[in-house]
Amino acid sequence: AGAFDQLTSSLEEAWSKLKKEDILTRENIKEPMRDIRRALLEADVSLPVVRSFVKNVTEKAIGIGVIKGVRPDQQLVKVVNDELVKLMGGEAADIDYSKSKPTVILMAGLQGVGKTTACGKLALYFKKKGKKCMMVATDIYRPAAIDQLVTLGKQVEVPVFEAGNQIKPDEIARLGLAEAKKRSVDILIVDTAGRLQVDKGMMDELKQMKKVLNPSEVLLVVDAMTGQEAAALVSAFNLEIGITGAILTKLDGDSRGGAALSVREVSGRPIKFVGQGESMEALEPFYPDRMAGRILG
Ligand code: GDP
Repeated sequence: AGAFDQLTSSLEEAWSKLKKEDILTRENIKEPMRDIRRALLEADVSLPVVRSFVKNVTEKAIGIGVIKGVRPDQQLVKVVNDELVKLMGGEAADIDYSKSKPTVILMAGLQGVGKTTACGKLALYFKKKGKKCMMVATDIYRPAAIDQLVTLGKQVEVPVFEAGNQIKPDEIARLGLAEAKKRSVDILIVDTAGRLQVDKGMMDELKQMKKVLNPSEVLLVVDAMTGQEAAALVSAFNLEIGITGAILTKLDGDSRGGAALSVREVSGRPIKFVGQGESMEALEPFYPDRMAGRILG
């Protein structure tokens, strides 16, 4: 079962109600639009995002008639597809590479979302592109987190810089960056400590790291299972530290996928990668058009 199965079939039901209509009017699309609204909310898309989405689709749908033999209900599918792509940012967003080495990617996110795993996945992804990578372990609160990154580093054969848990995270970051420069690393991926929920200590630490590292990318790792709260979480991080994009993890699980549709709208920043499994290979760039295709079935 995929994350969007339920959404896909609910949407199909919505258009099927318009099969006999020769022209879409405010009246006859009312019920299908209500279905779409409900389907999106049930898929955990956040309410403000659903509202503006339904409004946009409604405006574009009214007045659609049969064009070149294509029935209005089929055209509505196309309208929804285009709006979904737009909602998710249109084009796929690449990583912003810095002019001078290394390109620094600062990872942020709550505990358990898959941040450390995503570091390993990213390292492998860039390594396969021929980039020289290094990772930095700064989660001094959980020694297991440092070990985990070191283990992942061995697995993907990318060096991990660590300095134990007796010095502050921003100091470790500073040392890691210096080491990366010395070794002429292309991409430096910095893992950070998460917390169970948004808290000031975590945000202050991230701000401090950002100052030290001047990263090209600040990627917020978001667990697709977060549901409706994903939107609030993304806004909070973006307001506090300023993110450049997101990585959506666990899209292989039984999440309902709604976070994929909310991130861009609430932060103005795109999802750049999706994680779909525990293995190091299970990471892909995020393509809005493919995701829309998946949603529409
Ligand atoms: P962190 O606390 O944010 O660093 O989270 P971890 O990287 O330790 O991941 C927490 C758990 O989620 C681990 O058991 C990972 O294997 C698992 N995980 C991470 N990403 C994914 C994913 O995309 N899909 C699935 N199914 N599990 C994942």
